Amino acid sequence: MRRKKHKHTRRAVGFYKLSYGFYEPFKILLDGNFIHATMSASMLDLPDLIHKLLGAQCKLYVTRCAMRELEELGEGFEKSLEAAHKYELHKCGHAPGQCSAAKCIKDQIGRTNANHWWLATQDKGLRQDLSQVAGLPMLFASVNGLHLEEPAGMSKFTAHEAAQTQMAVPEYERKTSALADLDALRREVKRRESSSTVAFRRKKAKGPNPLAIRKASKKQNQAPRKGKSQDNKQSQPQPAEGSDGGEERGPKNRKRKRSGSKNENSKKGSIGAQS
Ligand SMILES: [Zn+2]
Repeated sequence: MRRKKHKHTRRAVGFYKLSYGFYEPFKILLDGNFIHATMSASMLDLPDLIHKLLGAQCKLYVTRCAMRELEELGEGFEKSLEAAHKYELHKCGHAPGQCSAAKCIKDQIGRTNANHWWLATQDKGLRQDLSQVAGLPMLFASVNGLHLEEPAGMSKFTAHEAAQTQMAVPEYERKTSALADLDALRREVKRRESSSTVAFRRKKAKGPNPLAIRKASKKQNQAPRKGKSQDNKQSQPQPAEGSDGGEERGPKNRKRKRSGSKNENSKKGSIGAQS
């Protein structure tokens, strides 16, 4: 069960980091009743417990109005008030007695929680009211320890996205000049890569299979030869007619000459033999 709770909590922390730009150290706004509940349950080292729960560096804050509320409660809340003094005092800007601790906390969160507060309160009514604020993580204590409420849009958040948050650069770091230059470099590299791939594709499109070219060239070369030979054959008879027999008779004549010479030789031989 503890492992499952741990996994869900880390996933929720990743969700807030990625979806709402929360960054470390997380700012935890403590309600007086939360401090009292943890003190009553002997959760004395609250910063360490919250650090272990969220797996991140945290800073704990208490508003003046919450502090005043603990002071007014008086007997039985001395230890809680003493513990509250250990944490950072957040100047809420309210005059003494101007508003309740719950109203003070609502004012700090506002409509959008622009200051990225994490709220720790035992007030169920307050948690219910502030559940309408989308990017507000809320902590509460029970006898089993501290818990982080599961955010509303969590079901759409995949484990892959949660893993990416571990590698992602926080938004405030992205705004620094060095990383801005890095972003510019990455864009330039991407642009060059995209342009180079286009050129490569064009080359591919131009050059088909070289073997295919050879075959085509042979066919092309052979075809005109036939045409030429036909042309020659057609053109040859014309001069051949004028020159009584022409070139075609040449080899035949030679053969005939050879044969004739052989015959003559044989005749001569036979004549010689006869003589
Ligand atoms: Zn206040």
